[in-house]
Amino acid sequence: GVEVSSAEEAVRTRGSAAATIFSRVIDRSVPADIIHEDEKCLAFRDVSPQAPVHFLVIPRVPIPRLSEATDEDAELLGHLLVVAKNVAKQESLDEGYRVVINDGKHGAQSVYHLHIHVLGGRQMAWPPG
Ligand code: IMP
Repeated sequence: GVEVSSAEEAVRTRGSAAATIFSRVIDRSVPADIIHEDEKCLAFRDVSPQAPVHFLVIPRVPIPRLSEATDEDAELLGHLLVVAKNVAKQESLDEGYRVVINDGKHGAQSVYHLHIHVLGGRQMAWPPG
């Protein structure tokens, strides 16, 4: 399909590492509860929710992690944050929510396809673990 081709193209042009589970969410070869989709990104519910509402926003292009994003990704990164905000409203998180990007080992990143976590529906604590 078109989405698979563009993901593969992005891997080629970026010389990016192996595809992750999130590439399979994008190309629909693993099921996901997708709650937003547009030409640049998807939002879907986390399979292991850490709050009553926990979803992820991912770019279609497989940027492995925030620290590997480039200046040219600025508009895309902004778009992901705007989508996170819009979907949080759609999910009725009117009392607020937590937005998290885990990067690398110390960030406890486990899937190396950039994603924004949005968690809400309960009181969060600070500092995080
Ligand atoms: P990280 O630790 O910031 O890399 O977060 C990865 C997140 O992806 C975790 O919260 C996982 O529960 C979630 N996750 C992993 N595989 C899937 C999946 O197939 N569907 C939805 N969420 C997933």
